Amino acid sequence: MGHTSRRKFLRQGSLGAAGFLFASGLANSSFAGTFSGEGRTPAILGGRPVWSDTDWVKWPMWVQSEDEKILIDSVRSGVWSRNKLVDSFEGKWAEVVGAKRCLTVVNGTNALITAIGQLDIGPGDEVITTPYTFIASVQAILANHAMPVFADIDPATYQIDPEKLESKITKRTKAILVVHILGLPADMDRIMAIAQKHNLLVIEDACQAHLAEYGNKKVGSIGKAGCFSFQNSKNLPIGEGGAIVSDDEQFIDKCFAAHNLGYAYGTSTGAVAGDSFMKASKIRLTEYAAAIGLAQLKRLEAQTITRDENARYLSSMLKDIDGVTPIKLYDKVNRGAFHLYSFRYRPESFAGLSRQKFLEALRKEGLPCSGGYKVMHTQEFMKDAFASRIYKSFYTKKMLDFDDYLRRNSCPENEALCKDAVWLTQNVLLGSRRDMEGIAEAIRNISRNADRIKD
Ligand SMILES: *Cc1c(COP(=O)(O)O)cnc(C)c1O
Repeated sequence: MGHTSRRKFLRQGSLGAAGFLFASGLANSSFAGTFSGEGRTPAILGGRPVWSDTDWVKWPMWVQSEDEKILIDSVRSGVWSRNKLVDSFEGKWAEVVGAKRCLTVVNGTNALITAIGQLDIGPGDEVITTPYTFIASVQAILANHAMPVFADIDPATYQIDPEKLESKITKRTKAILVVHILGLPADMDRIMAIAQKHNLLVIEDACQAHLAEYGNKKVGSIGKAGCFSFQNSKNLPIGEGGAIVSDDEQFIDKCFAAHNLGYAYGTSTGAVAGDSFMKASKIRLTEYAAAIGLAQLKRLEAQTITRDENARYLSSMLKDIDGVTPIKLYDKVNRGAFHLYSFRYRPESFAGLSRQKFLEALRKEGLPCSGGYKVMHTQEFMKDAFASRIYKSFYTKKMLDFDDYLRRNSCPENEALCKDAVWLTQNVLLGSRRDMEGIAEAIRNISRNADRIKD
């Protein structure tokens, strides 16, 4: 089967045996390719693009023949509130992550908010985290009226740097919110050792890191609690959805009550006359969302292997291109989830071609890419929290002086990364090995023509 026809086949959602082979990276691409190497005019200079939009796997994937029955059955049953399908999804997610228990909630943000809150982290407490993350990690700390403290990143792995973490610990510090950013595991051995030494809780934001593995353990199962997101773009997409996993049953029972108006774990969700024992919200997953999750879950293992293999293959080629430094993994990483694939870009090696122009040149070749996060913790939402009554009553004036806060939390490595990172989206990594070779070749070709592209 040719390149284009296979993609169409996937897009239309009839992922049969061939599709499964393909998704697990075993298929042999017969793609002839349009990347002919030297002499090819880059698309940004009028050449023919290497890929069209439809060449990449459409995300989220919906395979009618495989996915639809469980969803339609769920819709037709009229049982739409939390019930057996949610229970089943939670059981399966706990099992694949290797945790004792799992609780689903409406999204990853609320998984983090609930986990932080039910570990009794709140007003007056400090939580150390990374500046290189999605805004939700920090919003979840603020939602519990705790104080985010930023430790700079390791410029090679983009993850929180354990070296810098330890010096940020004060007597207010309660927890470390580790983010496995881009789906790649942070340096957990060292982080766990620091946490143990200072008696701190470790919460893992694994919202991008489904089935990533460190030291033969799935991330999310290493700290006290692990949080996941099933938002549309994530490697396990439901649209909206999230989960907390933990080995601490009492903690998950508390989270259950917190997600269900304070009713005890095991209470049936239709009950209106039960006894509520704690102040709580209501953030339950629906049955049809769980049905979509169960359908997606069947493909996750194979897709994760494909992304990991393709990412490593791509890195092996990109490391030889002057001006491109692929992201590094820690030695104990058995597998990356690669929610994003990233490298650092050095304009000086590309005749001074700016990152923006470089990204534009890649996009013109038909490769979906971006510059990734911008510096986040200097933004207005932080100031807004600091100005609130609750922050003013639990923190000192000096702690809430925003200029001083920014000085204390300055993260120059993060600022540099925000300026020179290049991201490819995860669906690109579901392409063929030939596609990976095409990406390396497209970048080499931009490098060869950088002088002309710049003008
Ligand atoms: C997506 C994401 C979240 C939040 O998850 P939602 O389901 O979108 O609420 C939190 N942290 C990180 C690192 C994420 O990527």
